[in-house]
Amino acid sequence: MSNSTESESRKLLGRLRDAMASDIEGQARLNKIPHLIADSMECEVCAVYLFRDEETLELCATVGLNPEAVHHTRLRLGEGLVGRVARSGKPINSPDAPAEPGFRYVPETGEEQFRSFLGIPIQRLGEKLGVLVVQSRDTRAFTPDEIYALEVVAMVLAEMTELGAFVGAGDGLAARHQQAVLIRGLTGQEGTAEGHVWLHEPRVVVTNLIADDPAREIGRLNEAVDKLRVSVDEMLAINAGGDQEQLQVLEAYRMFANSKGWLRRMEEDISAGLSAEGAVEKEQSQARARMGQVQDPYLRERLSDLDDLSNRLLRHLTGQCHRNGAELPPDPVLVARNIGPGELLEYGRVLRGIVLEEGSVGSHAAIVARALAIPLVVRAPRIVDEAMNGNQIMVDGDQGIVHLRPEDTVVKAFRDKMAMKAKAQERYRSIRDKPAITLCGARIDLTMNAGLMADLPSLEGSGAEGVGLFRTELQFLVRNKMPKRTELAALYSHVLDAAHGRRVVFRTLDIGSDKVLPYMKPTDEPNPALGWRAIRVGLDKPGVMRMQLQALIRGAGGRPLTIMFPFVAQYEEYRAACAEVDKTIAREKRLGHVLPATLEIGAMLETPSLAYAPERFFQEVEFLSIGGNDLKQFFFAADRENERVRRRYDTLNVSFLSFLEQIVERCKRSNTPLSFCGEDAGRPIEALCLAAIGIRALSMRPASIGPVKSLLLRSNLTELRAVMDAARERGDQSVRPAVMDYLRAQV
Ligand code: PEP
Ligand code: MG
Repeated sequence: MSNSTESESRKLLGRLRDAMASDIEGQARLNKIPHLIADSMECEVCAVYLFRDEETLELCATVGLNPEAVHHTRLRLGEGLVGRVARSGKPINSPDAPAEPGFRYVPETGEEQFRSFLGIPIQRLGEKLGVLVVQSRDTRAFTPDEIYALEVVAMVLAEMTELGAFVGAGDGLAARHQQAVLIRGLTGQEGTAEGHVWLHEPRVVVTNLIADDPAREIGRLNEAVDKLRVSVDEMLAINAGGDQEQLQVLEAYRMFANSKGWLRRMEEDISAGLSAEGAVEKEQSQARARMGQVQDPYLRERLSDLDDLSNRLLRHLTGQCHRNGAELPPDPVLVARNIGPGELLEYGRVLRGIVLEEGSVGSHAAIVARALAIPLVVRAPRIVDEAMNGNQIMVDGDQGIVHLRPEDTVVKAFRDKMAMKAKAQERYRSIRDKPAITLCGARIDLTMNAGLMADLPSLEGSGAEGVGLFRTELQFLVRNKMPKRTELAALYSHVLDAAHGRRVVFRTLDIGSDKVLPYMKPTDEPNPALGWRAIRVGLDKPGVMRMQLQALIRGAGGRPLTIMFPFVAQYEEYRAACAEVDKTIAREKRLGHVLPATLEIGAMLETPSLAYAPERFFQEVEFLSIGGNDLKQFFFAADRENERVRRRYDTLNVSFLSFLEQIVERCKRSNTPLSFCGEDAGRPIEALCLAAIGIRALSMRPASIGPVKSLLLRSNLTELRAVMDAARERGDQSVRPAVMDYLRAQV
C-alpha cells in the first residue's frame, strides 16, 4: 500500500473510531459513517446496505444517493451488483457499473448518474452483515490499495453496535449471542441432555481493532509470532513419532507460522490502521470466508488449521489464556469444532452432552461418546460461533438437533420429553434382572457391545448377560501409538474382572476401512470397505495378531476365554486364524504361562460369502455372530458410511430377512450357536423380527437392552412370525408395515 493511502486509511479509521465513540447513537451515528468514508475516498457516494433477513439487503445509510431511499430500497441476495457482493462475499470493482451484466437500476436512489462502483462485503469472522459501497460520477477503476483500505473499513464497521441493531440482532453483534438458535446436525449418539455450554477452545475476544502507532503494533505482532513459532516447534517435538494426523496438522501450523505472505499481509493491515489483533482477525475472517466457498476437503482442513493458528496467535497477543479463567459448569455440554478421542476421554463422564461442528458418525470421538453414552450431535453448522461459554443448551441426540439459549416453550417441551424418557428408564430398571422370555416361551440372550473400560460399568446397570462383542480395536484407535502387550493383557484382565464370570467375546483387531490406526502407514485404497481390513490384515501381518492373542491369553490368566475373528469371508481364513491361535497357545505353554480354562473360537459373518461356506466350516466354527452392519452393506451394496444410501434399504426387507433365515437354518443343522451383533440388534422392532426368524442371541449398545427386553417380554414370536410370513407371501417389499400394524393392534 502506498504511504499516502496508508496514512489516509489510518486517518479515516481514527475518525471512524471517534464517531463510534461519540455520544450520539442509532441512525444518527450510522449516518455519519458514509460521509467520513466518501470524503476520505473522494467519492460522491457511499452507501451501507445491511441484511434485513437472510435473503434481503436494505439501504441503511448513505451520502450521495437519495436520502428518501434509506430504509426503503431493498435488494434480494444476488440481485444487482450489491446483491452479488453479498452472495459471493467478494468485492466488485467496476469503472462502469451500468454496463456490468446483472446491474440493476434502482430508480428511487438516483444512482443512475454514477458510473464507477466498488462494493465490499461487511463481514466479521465469516459472518455476513451487509455491503459497503462507494460510487463516483467518473469512470474510474478503484486501485488495489483503495479496495484494501475499504476492506479494512468494512471490518471495523462490522464492530459497530448499530450494525448489529440494523441486522436485527438488537444491541449490536454481541446481542446475537443472546438469541435463541436451533441448529440441525446429525445424530452421533442418541439421548437427550440439558446443560450449559463449555467451549473446548473458547474464542478470544478482541475489542481494540484500531491502533494509532503502527510501529508498536508491528513489534507486538512480531513478538507474538515468534512465541507462536516456538510453541509450534515445542508441540512438534513433543509429538514426534506419534499420531500421524496430529503431526500433519502441526506441520501445517508450522508452515503457516513461517509463511511470509501471512505475516506480510498482517503488517499491511497494521499499516492501514488496524491493531495487531485487528490484523490477525482480518486475515482470519478472510480465511473463514474462503472456507465457506472451498469444496476440496484437504483445502478446507488447511484453512481450518489457519483458523486455529490465528486463535493461538490472538491468545499470545491478548494474553487471554486458554480457559480465560472460566469454570466448568456443573452440567457441561461440550461444544467444539472437532475433538480427538483422547481429549474426550480426559473429560470423561462429567459431560452431559457433546456438540461438534465437524466430526462424523463414524469418527473416533463419536465412538468414545457412544462408549460413554453421552448424547452427541455432529455436523452442527456454526455452533462454535454461535455458542458462548455458560449459555443454556439442549441436545437432542435422537433427532440431531441442538437448542441454544432456548425459549421457555422449547425448554418446557424438551423437559417433557426428557421426563418421558426418564419414566421409560425406570420401567427398564424394573425388568433389569428378568431374563428376556417372550410370551411364547422363547428365551433370548441379551448381551452388550463394548470396547473401552468406560463401557463396563454399564454391564451391571443394563442387565446385560455378558459382552457379546468387545471391539478390541477401540483401545488401539484412541491412542497415538501401538499399545504394548503388557498393557493390553492388563486391560483384558480388567475387562474379565469387571464381567464377574459373565462371558466376554473378544473380537480381534478389526482395523482398516473406517477404522484407521493413526500410527499405521495409511494405505490408499479405492474402496477401503472392500479392502485390506480386519482378518485380512491380521493374516498378512501376523505379528500384531500374535501379540494380541498372547495378551488375551495372559489377560485371561486361567479363566475361560472367547475369541472372535472379524470379517471372515471364507473357511480358509478361519482355519488360518485358528492355526495362529494353536501356535500361540503352544508358545505360551512353553513359556510357562497359565492357559485359559476353556477356549472358544468363533467368527463374524459379515460377508454373504460365508453364509455359503462349506458344511465343514459350520461344523468346525464354535460360534458365529452376524455383523449386521457390514453384512447389510454388502448384501445391498450400500455403503454404511454414506449418508445418501445408508438408510436406503430396510433391514426388514424380505430379501435380507430370507437371507438371514438361511443362515439360521444352516446353524441349526450344524448346531452352531448364532448371535447377531450389528446396530439393528438394539432396535426393538428389528430385534423382535430377528428373534422371530430364530436368532436367539442379540448383542447391542447397553442403552438398548431395556427397550428391546421390554418389547420381547410382551411379544409372541410365533404369532409375529405368521404376520411376517403372510407379508412375504403377499409380496411386500418389507415386513415392517405389517409388523407395525400387528404391534399397534396389540396395545
Ligand atoms: C458389524 O459389522 O455389524 C459389526 C458389529 O462390526 P463393526 O460395526 O465394528 O464393523
Ligand atoms: Mg463389522
